[in-house]
Amino acid sequence: MDAKAIAREREKQQLLNRLVEIMVSEQQEQGVYASVPHYSVLEQASHRLGQELSRAAQRRAMAEAATANVESAACPTCGEQRPVKFKRRVVQSIDGPVEVVEPSADCRPCRRSFFPSA
Ligand SMILES: [Zn+2]
Repeated sequence: MDAKAIAREREKQQLLNRLVEIMVSEQQEQGVYASVPHYSVLEQASHRLGQELSRAAQRRAMAEAATANVESAACPTCGEQRPVKFKRRVVQSIDGPVEVVEPSADCRPCRRSFFPSA
């Protein structure tokens, strides 16, 4: 790992630790630790945090994938370049619903819509 990758990894660990501290603070306020909680309570709360992070990561990654590569795309039928527009839709991920931005294009002469691929 180069210095940049090491610094990025360190920052990621710091941010993950911060997220965990926020979760524990919320649990303290809710009285979760007033008595010794069952492990499953802690596991479920941790899993929910992981799912929340996963959905945020999916949203951001899909936005990057949708906008990083395309302003126009070739129609699969006629090969002409057509402008790409972006639509929002909700996908059901394994970690819950995620609103994503998806590129699509229309070709009027061919009377078809298509999803540009990178
Ligand atoms: Zn076409």
